Amino acid sequence: MRILLTNDDGIHAPGLRALHNAVQSVGEVFVFAPTTEQSGVAHSITLLTPLRAHRLKTPGGLEGMAVDGAPVDCVRLAVKELVDPPPDVVISGINIGANEGLNAFYSGTVAGALEGGLLGVPSMAVSLEYTDSPHFDVAGEWTLRALDLLRRITSPRAPVLNVNIPALPAEKIKGLRITRQGLYGADEGYEHREDPRGGSYYWIRPDTDRSRAEPGDDVHALHEGYVTVTPLQRDLTDHDLLNSLRDLQGEGGAPA
Ligand code: MN
Repeated sequence: MRILLTNDDGIHAPGLRALHNAVQSVGEVFVFAPTTEQSGVAHSITLLTPLRAHRLKTPGGLEGMAVDGAPVDCVRLAVKELVDPPPDVVISGINIGANEGLNAFYSGTVAGALEGGLLGVPSMAVSLEYTDSPHFDVAGEWTLRALDLLRRITSPRAPVLNVNIPALPAEKIKGLRITRQGLYGADEGYEHREDPRGGSYYWIRPDTDRSRAEPGDDVHALHEGYVTVTPLQRDLTDHDLLNSLRDLQGEGGAPA
């Protein structure tokens, strides 16, 4: 198995090294990761400047391509140009900070996996709930279990999984749950602050309100202590609205 690794915390991030450690025994590993942290860049790409990449060995001993771009740039450059034949699997992570609920929309980690899927490669994003002392070795073990699940999926389209791991010691994790994406988690506003010259600036606040979590969604299961696996799709169409719009337009719901 040829495994492409990327992330959004950058090529020097400990989570990427942990991911590499976890998967190196199950396949041939290629690392394409951003030179600097790209958390929150979602599905952005480098369009207006040249995309530079150079081979790098980190002080932690990880070898790979450092790409001066976003996670999606990394995956595209690897799959379309530099990894030949293309990888069998893309894994993005291990991110520090969960990407559950609507956080998935903003996440560069999740975007890296979605890009793999768009390019026809089965992919998954792996994120570990934020903590000061992350158990990356535990997260690595759960990554392998999720990878096994990913490899067993039979689907006409390349599957994309969003995996989130609770920040708990191994024995406290209750198991793995297949979940749907929670539809909240992006409601917080900004903290207003003042700089030393009296000017205003704003800093986005994380949304920590889990009160709307429902059984069956990823936010709920993660905070119950389960590893969550949420299948993601590329279709952003609102199918209910599609039919309403067709009725409004007098198209009667028949597919055109
Ligand atoms: Mn990140």
